[in-house]
Amino acid sequence: MCPYTEPTPAIPYYNPRFLGQVTLEGILRDRLAEYSCQVEFGMELRSFEQNNERVLATVVKSVNGAEVTETIEASYLIGADGAKGATRKQLNLSFLGETRDDFATVLGDIRLESDIDRNHWHFFGSNDTSRVVLRPTDEVGPDGFQFFVFSGKNYDVKEMLHDQDLLMKCISEVTTAKVRLNELKWISEFRPNIRVVEKFDVGRVFVVGDAAHVHSPTGGQGLNSSVQDAFNLAWKVALAHKGLAPPSLLETYSTERMPVIAQMLNLTTELLNQTVAMTNSTIESAFSRGQKLYMLGVNYRYSPIVVDEFSEQGPVEAYGLLQPGVLVAGDRAPDAPKLVKVDADGGETRLFDIFEPAHHTVLIFGSDESFVNGILSSLQNYNKSVIRSVVVLPTTASASATPANAHQVVIDQEGHAHDAYLVAQGESRVVVVRPDGVVGAIVHGAEGMQKYFEKVFISTSS
Ligand SMILES: Cc1cc2nc3c(=O)[nH]c(=O)nc-3n(C[C@H](O)[C@H](O)[C@H](O)COP(=O)(O)OP(=O)(O)OC[C@H]3O[C@@H](n4cnc5c(N)ncnc54)[C@H](O)[C@@H]3O)c2cc1C
Repeated sequence: MCPYTEPTPAIPYYNPRFLGQVTLEGILRDRLAEYSCQVEFGMELRSFEQNNERVLATVVKSVNGAEVTETIEASYLIGADGAKGATRKQLNLSFLGETRDDFATVLGDIRLESDIDRNHWHFFGSNDTSRVVLRPTDEVGPDGFQFFVFSGKNYDVKEMLHDQDLLMKCISEVTTAKVRLNELKWISEFRPNIRVVEKFDVGRVFVVGDAAHVHSPTGGQGLNSSVQDAFNLAWKVALAHKGLAPPSLLETYSTERMPVIAQMLNLTTELLNQTVAMTNSTIESAFSRGQKLYMLGVNYRYSPIVVDEFSEQGPVEAYGLLQPGVLVAGDRAPDAPKLVKVDADGGETRLFDIFEPAHHTVLIFGSDESFVNGILSSLQNYNKSVIRSVVVLPTTASASATPANAHQVVIDQEGHAHDAYLVAQGESRVVVVRPDGVVGAIVHGAEGMQKYFEKVFISTSS
């Protein structure tokens, strides 16, 4: 399905992993807790109104069985409330597209006593008669499976929603395995919807994830696309809220994400068509997932806020393949391990530990003191709390050449940073990495860097 790809220093997480919703939500909630945030369950957004300064949201929660209404005043509202949520509807955004009735299925989590091996994802039956798909997963239990049953001429899956005996009869008949129901955790009917809003924002209100676009789950692109929406938007909203960025920065959320989402919808619909048409002899090709779906080549090279003074590349697909040996502003910023910290600690670090969603990272390549100091003094024009400067010294540099004003100085001990960012040893160059891990600028020096920051920040220089 997904051939293994050897990780590299620049791309340490090359291969897809399966992760259940419960596990993922736990990870996200734990991360939020580190920032003293918690998800308030049972809280429903009912309506909102906005003007030029703020949004007033009306939410309802249940306290001891009684409905309690609260009003929340905020600078911005981000609707991450899924396909059926209130935000998109109240914004009156159209949700153009189609519902596919040729792919009726029920799915859910089930615990089965069975002799089905737990090392493989199983496809039983055929699309014509009835197909049962069982994916063993310990997240549901040591006897747990995620299941899909596709409608065929032998069974109408809709009836299984309320009839466990029928579900088990179908599973047992189609798999021909010895199966006994231990527990049906949940079951739901599903038909793919392929829809997208015409724009992702109206004034101070935004939609992200399934609230903005829905598509076939074939290819498993929904979760990461939704997280990427949120990541693209969050740092822009944070800067605008702090008064550090102009409102025009917020418009780039739609500009950057729309082409990516449009191509994602096409790709996943293609896979859906292959799945609907598949026979037992084409299952392997129907489920073969090309590297585009790894999303490592998703890029914003076309964005109006990225600056590249080196690339002569024309436009490429927003959802393209990773291009080895090519790095253009708008691409995903690569990692580089084995960087030696030039400080009292003297330990090792890597770029993925240096990049943070709360700040831009300015990578200053080069050992020429006047070049490095020139960049560092230009950075004084911007708010220090949202930009970090990292001087990346060449492999042969000595630990004594330490510019005092940089947040961090590292020696690129094994040359991974120079390789990944296509900088020759000893060459001077500046790369700005955005809070969402995207390369914002690849420039010769202070002038290019300022050109980038003028698009993102309100300058504080007098
Ligand atoms: C059958 C199926 C299989 C899928 N398989 C995959 C897969 O393998 N890989 C993958 O990446 N993606 C998959 N997806 C897609 C993925 O589930 C979605 O893209 C993803 O969950 C979108 O996240 P979201 O936070 O935008 O929306 P949701 O996950 O829908 O979350 C929205 C939340 O908002 C809440 N909400 C709704 N209205 C309100 C309101 N008025 N007030 C407050 N809260 C509200 C909802 O209760 C919900 O908790 C699949 C989807 C389906 C249907």
